[in-house]
Amino acid sequence: MTQDDWGNIKKRLLKTVGQNNYTTWIAPMEPGAVSEGIATLNVPTNFFGNYVSQNFSDLILHELRAEGVDVSRLNFALTPQNAQIIAKPAARPAPSQTDKASGTSPVTTAPLDPRFSFENFVVGKPNELAHAAAKRVAEGGPVTFNPLFLYGGVGLGKTHLMHAIARELKERKPEMNVLYLSAEQFMYRFVQALRDRKMMDFKEIFRSVDVLMVDDVQFIAGKDSTQEEFFHTFNALVDQNKQIIISADRAPTDIKDLEERVKSRLQCGLVVDLHPTDYELRLGILQTKVEAQRKTYPGLEVESGVLEFLAHRITSNVRVLEGALTRLFAFASLVGREINMELTQDCLADVLRDSERKISVEEIQRKVSEHYNIRLSDMIGPKRLRSYARPRQVAMYLCKQMTSRSLPEIGRRFGGRDHTTVMHGVKRIEELKVSDGQITEDLELLRRALES
Ligand code: ADP
Ligand code: MG
Repeated sequence: MTQDDWGNIKKRLLKTVGQNNYTTWIAPMEPGAVSEGIATLNVPTNFFGNYVSQNFSDLILHELRAEGVDVSRLNFALTPQNAQIIAKPAARPAPSQTDKASGTSPVTTAPLDPRFSFENFVVGKPNELAHAAAKRVAEGGPVTFNPLFLYGGVGLGKTHLMHAIARELKERKPEMNVLYLSAEQFMYRFVQALRDRKMMDFKEIFRSVDVLMVDDVQFIAGKDSTQEEFFHTFNALVDQNKQIIISADRAPTDIKDLEERVKSRLQCGLVVDLHPTDYELRLGILQTKVEAQRKTYPGLEVESGVLEFLAHRITSNVRVLEGALTRLFAFASLVGREINMELTQDCLADVLRDSERKISVEEIQRKVSEHYNIRLSDMIGPKRLRSYARPRQVAMYLCKQMTSRSLPEIGRRFGGRDHTTVMHGVKRIEELKVSDGQITEDLELLRRALES
């Protein structure tokens, strides 16, 4: 696509995403080639590409098509000078190495996401330990645990905390040489140094930092020479009592194809995990993010109940939750409606469907049998005793409500029962819901347990 096309598209995107999002996420992109229905956009970092892909893909595709570009998919590519090592310039003279692409020293200040600060991080039970540990190392005091190893599933805030630490360290201790990069970038630099025969410079740079932060370290598993180099860098820094902060998507022991000596090194400091979010944390995060969205879209109201609904339904990870909210606001401003339940259901149908699929018939059966203290086999089996039949009907009802399975499918999973049996069970519970307070309470408890 031409610069002109992209210029027009950008103008329209500005209107739909708002000034803040535009400045942060749209303006820095450069248009690339369009081929076979795939439009390439050049982005400064992987992180940036992921974020735009998750939050603005639909809008961008829409605008591209409106501009007459024949496109079905977006591809985000790194601009060549993607060396994203960030650090304060060292007090001592930097090693004499110049970056061919940009003509600057490879140790440059690169984007720390401005929103990934401690202030914007919502603390709850699942992440309080990780947060406290991050705060501690961000003080830049004497090194007490080395390394700090943060781990947790996708979208639970690891990168957010890493950026927050880097930012705070830079503010508190400007003299410190803080280096933050992803394990992927570490490998990239390493391979580049090998290729350009600049290993001495590479070692020099990495061993002269005061704080080394490596995000997503699981990436180097199985990449033997990178692992080796990482190990040596790590040891050299620990020997000098320099702080190391690592993140990964799982515990050191669970990273496959990581050498034992690396694993044991990674474990010798403090290992803390970010647990999956709970309802309260999700709601807290949504409330905070709504405040941020309001700055972009002043005047847009969120009807009460919507955030609670989202916190109940979108349980996978914070990124998805946040993406849903961004989309809701963009959509609402686009169509000029307020954010109520109806709009939410319309706009987020796909996300809601995905999150729904997560609750399986088996899960419901298990939870219900636990709740009523009966054996799973008795609930699914042929016995007609009331003490089994009622829980069975409750489970059928929940399957109908909480999964997208059809009545015959549900019947099959309850010991091959007929769909009319399921229908009858569902009806029976619907009646009881009105007359029997105990059933209503059971359903509520079960639903909550299943959704959390
Ligand atoms: P990870 O690196 O663990 O995959 P990120 O740090 O990229 O996850 O987080 C994904 C998104 O969710 C980011 O936009 C981040 O700001 C947000 N997020 C995650 N946890 C929290 C939290 N506790 N408070 C506020 N935002 C959060
Ligand atoms: Mg991350």
